[in-house]
Amino acid sequence: MENSSELRKWLDDFNLSHPLVIAGPCSAETEEQVLTIAHQLKDSDATVLRAGIWKPRTRPGNFEGVGALGLKWLQKAKEETGMLTTTEVANPNHVELALKHDVDILWIGARTTVSPFIVQEIADALKGTDKVVLVKNPVNPDLSLWLGAVERLHTADIKNLGVIHRGFSAYEKTKYRNNPEWQIPIELQNKFPDLPLILDPSHIAGRRDIIFDLCQTGLDLNYDGIMVETHHTPDKAWSDAAQQITPKTLIQIMEDLQVRKEVSVSEEFQNKLNTLRSKIDIADSQILDILSKRMKISEEIGQVKKDQNVAILQTKRWNEILGKMVLEGEEKGLSEEFVLRMFKAIHQESINHQQKILDGIN
Ligand code: PEP
Ligand code: MN
Repeated sequence: MENSSELRKWLDDFNLSHPLVIAGPCSAETEEQVLTIAHQLKDSDATVLRAGIWKPRTRPGNFEGVGALGLKWLQKAKEETGMLTTTEVANPNHVELALKHDVDILWIGARTTVSPFIVQEIADALKGTDKVVLVKNPVNPDLSLWLGAVERLHTADIKNLGVIHRGFSAYEKTKYRNNPEWQIPIELQNKFPDLPLILDPSHIAGRRDIIFDLCQTGLDLNYDGIMVETHHTPDKAWSDAAQQITPKTLIQIMEDLQVRKEVSVSEEFQNKLNTLRSKIDIADSQILDILSKRMKISEEIGQVKKDQNVAILQTKRWNEILGKMVLEGEEKGLSEEFVLRMFKAIHQESINHQQKILDGIN
Protein backbone atom coordinates (compact mmCIF):
# COMPACT_ATOMS: atom_id res chain seq x y z
CA MET A 1 0.00 0.00 0.00
CA GLU A 2 1.44 3.35 -0.94
CA ASN A 3 1.43 6.05 1.66
CA SER A 4 -0.99 8.20 -0.28
CA SER A 5 -3.41 10.66 1.19
CA GLU A 6 -5.92 9.20 -1.27
CA LEU A 7 -6.66 6.68 1.46
CA ARG A 8 -8.32 9.28 3.62
CA LYS A 9 -9.89 11.31 0.85
CA TRP A 10 -13.25 9.69 1.42
CA LEU A 11 -13.51 11.31 4.83
CA ASP A 12 -13.69 14.67 3.01
CA ASP A 13 -15.56 13.44 -0.07
CA PHE A 14 -18.39 12.08 2.01
CA ASN A 15 -18.35 15.29 3.98
CA LEU A 16 -18.25 13.33 7.20
CA SER A 17 -17.86 14.76 10.67
CA HIS A 18 -14.60 14.86 12.58
CA PRO A 19 -14.28 12.68 14.45
CA LEU A 20 -16.43 10.43 12.29
CA VAL A 21 -19.23 9.08 14.48
CA ILE A 22 -20.93 5.82 13.51
CA ALA A 23 -23.75 4.75 15.82
CA GLY A 24 -26.66 2.38 15.91
CA PRO A 25 -27.69 -0.98 17.29
CA CYS A 26 -25.57 -4.10 17.38
CA SER A 27 -28.33 -5.81 15.37
CA ALA A 28 -31.30 -4.63 13.37
CA GLU A 29 -34.21 -6.28 15.21
CA THR A 30 -37.41 -4.79 13.80
CA GLU A 31 -38.26 -1.99 11.38
CA GLU A 32 -39.61 0.07 14.23
CA GLN A 33 -36.45 -0.41 16.31
CA VAL A 34 -34.15 0.67 13.44
CA LEU A 35 -36.26 3.74 12.65
CA THR A 36 -36.66 4.78 16.29
CA ILE A 37 -32.91 4.63 16.89
CA ALA A 38 -32.14 6.42 13.61
CA HIS A 39 -34.49 9.27 14.50
CA GLN A 40 -33.04 9.56 18.00
CA LEU A 41 -29.55 9.77 16.46
CA LYS A 42 -30.55 12.31 13.84
CA ASP A 43 -29.62 15.30 15.97
CA SER A 44 -26.46 13.77 17.39
CA ASP A 45 -22.94 13.91 15.94
CA ALA A 46 -23.50 10.52 14.33
CA THR A 47 -23.50 10.80 10.55
CA VAL A 48 -23.53 7.07 9.85
CA LEU A 49 -26.10 4.56 11.10
CA ARG A 50 -24.81 1.07 11.86
CA ALA A 51 -26.85 -2.12 12.27
CA GLY A 52 -25.83 -5.75 11.95
CA ILE A 53 -28.07 -7.66 9.55
CA TRP A 54 -26.16 -10.94 9.58
CA LYS A 55 -24.69 -11.57 13.02
CA PRO A 56 -21.60 -13.71 13.46
CA ARG A 57 -22.20 -15.44 16.80
CA THR A 58 -19.48 -17.31 18.60
CA ARG A 59 -21.92 -20.07 19.53
CA PRO A 60 -25.08 -21.22 17.73
CA GLY A 61 -28.47 -20.68 19.25
CA ASN A 62 -28.14 -16.92 19.73
CA PHE A 63 -29.95 -14.37 17.57
CA GLU A 64 -28.24 -14.54 14.19
CA GLY A 65 -29.69 -11.44 12.59
CA VAL A 66 -32.81 -10.70 10.58
CA GLY A 67 -31.08 -11.14 7.21
CA ALA A 68 -31.70 -9.26 3.96
CA LEU A 69 -35.08 -7.98 5.15
CA GLY A 70 -33.25 -5.59 7.49
CA LEU A 71 -31.53 -3.91 4.53
CA LYS A 72 -34.90 -2.38 3.58
CA TRP A 73 -35.18 -0.89 7.07
CA LEU A 74 -31.71 0.67 6.72
CA GLN A 75 -32.75 2.11 3.35
CA LYS A 76 -35.85 3.59 4.91
CA ALA A 77 -33.84 5.03 7.82
CA LYS A 78 -31.51 6.68 5.31
CA GLU A 79 -34.44 8.20 3.40
CA GLU A 80 -36.05 9.52 6.56
CA THR A 81 -32.97 10.87 8.37
CA GLY A 82 -30.36 11.50 5.67
CA MET A 83 -27.82 9.43 7.62
CA LEU A 84 -25.43 7.19 5.70
CA THR A 85 -25.69 3.49 6.52
CA THR A 86 -23.27 0.70 7.28
CA THR A 87 -23.50 -3.03 7.93
CA GLU A 88 -21.24 -6.07 8.20
CA VAL A 89 -20.64 -8.29 5.19
CA ALA A 90 -19.16 -11.75 5.65
CA ASN A 91 -19.44 -13.32 2.19
CA PRO A 92 -19.98 -12.37 -1.49
CA ASN A 93 -23.74 -12.88 -1.16
CA HIS A 94 -23.91 -10.31 1.65
CA VAL A 95 -21.87 -7.95 -0.52
CA GLU A 96 -24.26 -8.31 -3.44
CA LEU A 97 -27.33 -7.71 -1.28
CA ALA A 98 -25.78 -4.77 0.58
CA LEU A 99 -24.75 -3.09 -2.69
CA LYS A 100 -28.22 -3.68 -4.16
CA HIS A 101 -29.76 -1.94 -1.16
CA ASP A 102 -27.39 0.98 -1.40
CA VAL A 103 -25.58 0.52 1.90
CA ASP A 104 -22.90 3.25 1.94
CA ILE A 105 -20.17 1.71 4.04
CA LEU A 106 -19.46 -2.01 4.42
CA TRP A 107 -17.46 -3.42 7.29
CA ILE A 108 -15.64 -6.71 7.56
CA GLY A 109 -16.05 -8.29 11.00
CA ALA A 110 -13.35 -9.55 13.32
CA ARG A 111 -14.20 -13.20 12.72
CA THR A 112 -13.95 -12.68 8.96
CA THR A 113 -10.66 -10.76 8.92
CA VAL A 114 -8.93 -13.87 10.30
CA SER A 115 -9.68 -15.79 7.09
CA PRO A 116 -7.65 -14.82 4.01
CA PHE A 117 -9.88 -17.05 1.83
CA ILE A 118 -13.08 -15.23 2.77
CA VAL A 119 -11.45 -11.81 2.72
CA GLN A 120 -10.24 -12.57 -0.82
CA GLU A 121 -13.76 -13.63 -1.89
CA ILE A 122 -15.17 -10.42 -0.47
CA ALA A 123 -12.43 -8.37 -2.15
CA ASP A 124 -13.25 -10.02 -5.48
CA ALA A 125 -16.97 -9.33 -5.03
CA LEU A 126 -16.22 -5.68 -4.28
CA LYS A 127 -13.62 -5.18 -7.00
CA GLY A 128 -13.34 -1.53 -8.04
CA THR A 129 -16.21 -0.30 -5.86
CA ASP A 130 -16.16 3.27 -4.63
CA LYS A 131 -18.02 2.32 -1.47
CA VAL A 132 -16.12 2.73 1.77
CA VAL A 133 -14.89 -0.56 3.22
CA LEU A 134 -13.76 -0.76 6.85
CA VAL A 135 -11.76 -3.71 8.10
CA LYS A 136 -12.09 -4.71 11.75
CA ASN A 137 -9.01 -6.13 13.43
CA PRO A 138 -8.92 -9.94 13.53
CA VAL A 139 -9.95 -11.52 16.84
CA ASN A 140 -6.36 -12.56 17.49
CA PRO A 141 -3.66 -9.92 18.10
CA ASP A 142 -1.95 -10.24 14.72
CA LEU A 143 -1.11 -7.01 12.92
CA SER A 144 0.03 -8.75 9.71
CA LEU A 145 -3.27 -10.58 9.37
CA TRP A 146 -5.11 -7.28 9.78
CA LEU A 147 -2.89 -5.52 7.24
CA GLY A 148 -3.08 -8.53 4.92
CA ALA A 149 -6.86 -8.12 4.72
CA VAL A 150 -6.50 -4.40 3.96
CA GLU A 151 -3.94 -5.23 1.30
CA ARG A 152 -6.26 -7.74 -0.41
CA LEU A 153 -8.94 -5.04 -0.67
CA HIS A 154 -6.45 -2.45 -1.85
CA THR A 155 -5.18 -4.82 -4.53
CA ALA A 156 -8.80 -5.31 -5.66
CA ASP A 157 -8.79 -1.59 -6.44
CA ILE A 158 -10.93 -0.54 -3.50
CA LYS A 159 -9.76 2.99 -2.76
CA ASN A 160 -11.95 4.07 0.12
CA LEU A 161 -10.51 2.00 2.92
CA GLY A 162 -10.27 2.29 6.67
CA VAL A 163 -9.77 0.10 9.72
CA ILE A 164 -11.72 -0.44 12.92
CA HIS A 165 -10.03 -1.33 16.19
CA ARG A 166 -12.40 -3.54 18.22
CA GLY A 167 -9.94 -5.25 20.55
CA PHE A 168 -8.52 -8.77 20.72
CA SER A 169 -9.86 -11.81 22.48
CA ALA A 170 -7.83 -13.43 25.23
CA TYR A 171 -8.30 -16.58 27.24
CA GLU A 172 -7.81 -14.75 30.50
CA LYS A 173 -10.72 -12.63 31.74
CA THR A 174 -9.90 -8.95 32.21
CA LYS A 175 -12.04 -5.87 32.67
CA TYR A 176 -12.45 -5.81 28.89
CA ARG A 177 -14.48 -8.13 26.69
CA ASN A 178 -11.68 -7.79 24.14
CA ASN A 179 -8.30 -6.43 25.23
CA PRO A 180 -7.46 -3.18 23.46
CA GLU A 181 -3.73 -3.97 22.98
CA TRP A 182 -3.32 -0.32 21.96
CA GLN A 183 0.23 -0.95 20.77
CA ILE A 184 -1.16 -2.83 17.73
CA PRO A 185 -3.32 -0.05 16.24
CA ILE A 186 -0.58 2.44 17.19
CA GLU A 187 1.93 0.45 15.13
CA LEU A 188 -0.55 0.29 12.27
CA GLN A 189 -1.04 4.06 12.50
CA ASN A 190 2.73 4.59 12.41
CA LYS A 191 3.07 2.40 9.33
CA PHE A 192 0.05 3.82 7.49
CA PRO A 193 -0.71 7.27 8.88
CA ASP A 194 -3.16 7.89 6.04
CA LEU A 195 -5.34 4.87 6.66
CA PRO A 196 -8.36 6.16 8.62
CA LEU A 197 -8.51 4.48 12.02
CA ILE A 198 -11.81 4.11 13.85
CA LEU A 199 -12.35 2.92 17.41
CA ASP A 200 -15.11 0.48 18.35
CA PRO A 201 -15.22 0.99 22.13
CA SER A 202 -18.36 -1.17 22.46
CA HIS A 203 -16.76 -4.49 21.54
CA ILE A 204 -13.58 -3.67 23.47
CA ALA A 205 -15.57 -2.83 26.60
CA GLY A 206 -18.42 -5.33 26.58
CA ARG A 207 -20.01 -3.01 29.17
CA ARG A 208 -21.31 0.51 29.00
CA ASP A 209 -19.50 2.18 31.93
CA ILE A 210 -16.07 2.41 30.26
CA ILE A 211 -17.18 3.51 26.77
CA PHE A 212 -16.43 7.17 27.52
CA ASP A 213 -12.87 6.54 28.74
CA LEU A 214 -12.12 4.37 25.73
CA CYS A 215 -13.41 7.06 23.36
CA GLN A 216 -11.25 9.69 25.05
CA THR A 217 -8.16 7.51 24.75
CA GLY A 218 -8.96 6.93 21.06
CA LEU A 219 -9.26 10.66 20.40
CA ASP A 220 -6.06 11.36 22.34
CA LEU A 221 -4.33 8.83 20.10
CA ASN A 222 -5.58 10.69 17.01
CA TYR A 223 -8.17 8.16 15.89
CA ASP A 224 -10.32 9.45 13.03
CA GLY A 225 -13.62 8.26 14.42
CA ILE A 226 -15.65 6.03 16.70
CA MET A 227 -18.30 3.38 16.13
CA VAL A 228 -20.57 3.03 19.16
CA GLU A 229 -23.38 0.53 19.62
CA THR A 230 -26.51 2.49 20.43
CA HIS A 231 -30.03 1.27 21.20
CA HIS A 232 -33.21 3.02 22.37
CA THR A 233 -33.74 0.32 25.06
CA PRO A 234 -30.24 -1.15 25.54
CA ASP A 235 -31.18 -3.68 28.20
CA LYS A 236 -33.74 -5.20 25.88
CA ALA A 237 -31.36 -5.51 22.91
CA TRP A 238 -31.36 -8.90 21.22
CA SER A 239 -27.54 -8.97 21.10
CA ASP A 240 -24.74 -7.29 23.07
CA ALA A 241 -27.19 -5.69 25.52
CA ALA A 242 -24.61 -4.96 28.25
CA GLN A 243 -22.47 -2.74 26.03
CA GLN A 244 -25.09 -0.67 24.24
CA ILE A 245 -25.89 2.90 25.26
CA THR A 246 -28.86 5.11 24.41
CA PRO A 247 -28.59 7.82 21.75
CA LYS A 248 -29.03 10.31 24.60
CA THR A 249 -25.97 8.94 26.41
CA LEU A 250 -24.01 9.13 23.16
CA ILE A 251 -24.93 12.80 22.79
CA GLN A 252 -23.73 13.42 26.36
CA ILE A 253 -20.49 11.52 25.71
CA MET A 254 -19.82 13.61 22.61
CA GLU A 255 -20.37 16.76 24.65
CA ASP A 256 -17.97 15.65 27.37
CA LEU A 257 -15.19 14.34 25.13
CA GLN A 258 -12.24 16.57 24.47
CA VAL A 259 -12.02 16.62 20.72
CA ARG A 260 -8.99 17.89 18.88
CA LYS A 261 -9.62 20.67 16.41
CA GLU A 262 -7.60 22.14 13.54
CA VAL A 263 -4.89 23.92 15.44
CA SER A 264 -2.04 26.44 15.52
CA VAL A 265 1.63 25.47 15.77
CA SER A 266 1.70 25.66 19.55
CA GLU A 267 -1.48 23.65 19.76
CA GLU A 268 0.01 21.14 17.37
CA PHE A 269 2.92 20.79 19.76
CA GLN A 270 0.42 20.29 22.60
CA ASN A 271 -1.40 17.63 20.53
CA LYS A 272 1.80 15.73 19.88
CA LEU A 273 2.61 15.89 23.54
CA ASN A 274 -0.87 14.62 24.48
CA THR A 275 -0.62 11.75 22.01
CA LEU A 276 2.75 10.72 23.41
CA ARG A 277 1.43 11.03 26.96
CA SER A 278 -1.51 8.77 26.12
CA LYS A 279 0.96 6.21 24.82
CA ILE A 280 2.94 6.48 28.06
CA ASP A 281 -0.25 6.04 30.11
CA ILE A 282 -1.07 2.87 28.19
CA ALA A 283 2.47 1.52 28.66
CA ASP A 284 2.32 2.32 32.40
CA SER A 285 -0.96 0.44 32.81
CA GLN A 286 0.56 -2.50 31.00
CA ILE A 287 3.54 -2.44 33.38
CA LEU A 288 1.16 -2.59 36.36
CA ASP A 289 -0.87 -5.41 34.79
CA ILE A 290 2.22 -7.49 34.20
CA LEU A 291 3.60 -6.80 37.70
CA SER A 292 0.29 -7.79 39.21
CA LYS A 293 0.37 -11.04 37.21
CA ARG A 294 3.90 -11.68 38.44
CA MET A 295 2.87 -11.20 42.06
CA LYS A 296 0.00 -13.66 41.66
CA ILE A 297 2.49 -16.25 40.41
CA SER A 298 4.68 -15.46 43.44
CA GLU A 299 1.73 -16.14 45.69
CA GLU A 300 1.22 -19.52 44.04
CA ILE A 301 4.89 -20.26 44.62
CA GLY A 302 4.40 -19.17 48.23
CA GLN A 303 1.62 -21.73 48.54
CA VAL A 304 3.79 -24.49 47.09
CA LYS A 305 6.65 -23.57 49.44
CA LYS A 306 4.28 -23.50 52.37
CA ASP A 307 2.99 -26.98 51.53
CA GLN A 308 6.56 -28.28 51.35
CA ASN A 309 7.83 -26.24 54.26
CA VAL A 310 10.56 -24.58 52.16
CA ALA A 311 12.20 -21.18 52.93
CA ILE A 312 11.07 -18.20 50.86
CA LEU A 313 14.47 -16.84 49.94
CA GLN A 314 16.32 -19.02 47.43
CA THR A 315 19.52 -17.01 46.89
CA LYS A 316 20.95 -19.11 44.05
CA ARG A 317 17.81 -18.86 41.97
CA TRP A 318 17.55 -15.14 42.63
CA ASN A 319 21.14 -14.44 41.49
CA GLU A 320 20.46 -16.37 38.31
CA ILE A 321 17.39 -14.25 37.58
CA LEU A 322 19.32 -11.03 38.17
CA GLY A 323 22.21 -12.05 35.89
CA LYS A 324 19.82 -13.01 33.10
CA MET A 325 17.74 -9.85 33.40
CA VAL A 326 20.80 -7.55 33.36
CA LEU A 327 21.92 -9.12 30.07
CA GLU A 328 18.44 -8.99 28.55
CA GLY A 329 18.01 -5.41 29.77
CA GLU A 330 21.24 -4.35 28.09
CA GLU A 331 20.00 -5.72 24.78
CA LYS A 332 16.88 -3.66 25.25
CA GLY A 333 18.70 -0.43 26.03
CA LEU A 334 18.19 -0.50 29.82
CA SER A 335 21.16 0.23 32.07
CA GLU A 336 22.48 -2.38 34.48
CA GLU A 337 21.93 -0.04 37.39
CA PHE A 338 18.28 0.46 36.52
CA VAL A 339 17.60 -3.24 35.95
CA LEU A 340 19.19 -4.13 39.28
CA ARG A 341 17.27 -1.49 41.19
CA MET A 342 13.98 -2.40 39.53
CA PHE A 343 14.36 -6.13 40.14
CA LYS A 344 15.37 -5.59 43.75
CA ALA A 345 12.11 -3.71 44.26
CA ILE A 346 10.15 -6.40 42.42
CA HIS A 347 11.85 -9.11 44.45
CA GLN A 348 11.06 -7.37 47.73
CA GLU A 349 7.39 -7.02 46.77
CA SER A 350 7.35 -10.65 45.72
CA ILE A 351 8.78 -11.74 49.09
CA ASN A 352 6.09 -9.67 50.83
CA HIS A 353 3.38 -11.46 48.84
CA GLN A 354 4.86 -14.88 49.61
CA GLN A 355 5.27 -13.99 53.27
CA LYS A 356 1.58 -13.17 53.49
CA ILE A 357 0.75 -16.60 52.12
CA LEU A 358 3.10 -18.30 54.58
CA ASP A 359 1.61 -16.32 57.42
CA GLY A 360 -1.80 -17.41 56.23
CA ILE A 361 -3.02 -13.85 55.54
CA ASN A 362 -5.02 -13.59 52.38
C1 PEP B 1 -20.49 -5.96 15.56
O1 PEP B 1 -19.98 -4.91 15.20
O2 PEP B 1 -21.65 -6.04 15.99
C2 PEP B 1 -19.66 -7.18 15.54
C3 PEP B 1 -20.19 -8.39 15.43
O3 PEP B 1 -18.39 -6.90 15.71
P1 PEP B 1 -17.04 -7.78 15.75
O4 PEP B 1 -16.84 -8.32 14.37
O5 PEP B 1 -16.06 -6.74 16.13
O6 PEP B 1 -17.22 -8.84 16.79
MN1 MN C 1 -22.24 -6.19 18.63
